[in-house]
Amino acid sequence: MTDCLFCKIINGELPATRVYENRSFIAFEDIDKKAPTHILIVPKAHIESIDAMTDEDTELMAELFQAARDIAKQRGISESGYRVVVNTGRDGGQTVSHLHMHLLGGRAMTWPPG
Ligand code: 5GP
Ligand code: ZN
Repeated sequence: MTDCLFCKIINGELPATRVYENRSFIAFEDIDKKAPTHILIVPKAHIESIDAMTDEDTELMAELFQAARDIAKQRGISESGYRVVVNTGRDGGQTVSHLHMHLLGGRAMTWPPG
């Protein structure tokens, strides 16, 4: 999608600190880190949100969790633990309309979220 921020990062039009890439996803550092590790895992396909997922995306969603696991391992936070978050829609606090998973770690998280 031409006016999508994350599509522009994916196609190289905008810079980002990439930490991981495979066939289906890229992952890069969040520009406004909320934890020592704060990485966004983003499918290369433009899917707006969880809500826009179709049955064809089932495998992609499984791969998203696998990517989170692998990046957490690379970052050395598997043992200490981490949080994955997918904000969805207005009340979910989603600000970029291209599906992405936040991988947060390196500090103890609090609950409930705000
Ligand atoms: P959301 O609020 O939609 O769940 O998450 C969007 C995330 O994208 C936010 O954490 C925000 O800091 C991050 N973000 C927004 N613009 C940019 C950008 O240009 N580059 C990077 N790396 N992250 C961004
Ligand atoms: Zn997009």
